[in-house]
Amino acid sequence: MLSIHTMTTKPWSLEQACAKYAKAGIQGITVWRQHLAPYGAAKGRELLKANGLTCTALCRGGFFPAIDQTGRDKAIEDNRVAIRDAHDLGAPMVVLVCGAIPGLPLSEARKMVEDGIRAVEPEARAAGVKLAIEPLHPMYAADRSCITTLGESRRLCERINSPAVGIALDVFHVWWDPELESEIAKCGKWTCGFHLCDWRAPLRDMLNDRSVMGDGCIPVRRLRELVRQAGFQGWDEVEIFSDELWAGDQDVLVTRIQKAYAQHCV
Ligand code: ZN
Repeated sequence: MLSIHTMTTKPWSLEQACAKYAKAGIQGITVWRQHLAPYGAAKGRELLKANGLTCTALCRGGFFPAIDQTGRDKAIEDNRVAIRDAHDLGAPMVVLVCGAIPGLPLSEARKMVEDGIRAVEPEARAAGVKLAIEPLHPMYAADRSCITTLGESRRLCERINSPAVGIALDVFHVWWDPELESEIAKCGKWTCGFHLCDWRAPLRDMLNDRSVMGDGCIPVRRLRELVRQAGFQGWDEVEIFSDELWAGDQDVLVTRIQKAYAQHCV
């Protein structure tokens, strides 16, 4: 079933997104914290309920590495807030963009990520909220995520070995991986989130030039099949950051996403 990330329709407030998605017949929504902030989790939950929407995730926590202990403690506290908000909103998971600091050795950053997840895991488990580790494309390794592959995410899950820790697989970040097919199979029970968009070639901006499924070079349908064969039965979350699409009509975009989903994904 189709869910849309509120960042996909960034110009809309949470209230607008809820009403518009529901009107279009979309049943799921992944809420970004910047869209939730003006309302708060309790009011957000009411908005989703009033529109018959299922909350598929809260985005995002993570960003554990920091140059000093104060920064690391602050990051852990922020993840605690995200877990509480996810619980109050009715989100089954918090997606983790794990973080990285330019100049900080990746090996140290990776250790801080593992320590950070371990620090908040008991709260996540108690709240019934999963921590979904999202490996990011290696082009973001300097400043957004030192966790860059599915294999690395899976080994992190295996070491922590908690029912409250899993993986959010985003086709944009992992499609290039030569080990992709075997890793999707190995990640089976850990995969708890699945993000869809496409990779435009050439990419004009590292962050905000994602495209609608079918407009790029990712074999999205094939990847979706593999993820489902590996046991994942959750939502198909469309997550597109695009300056070009945000500048256009968001109603048209939602319709385009629905058509592309039917044509290229399922
Ligand atoms: Zn994603």
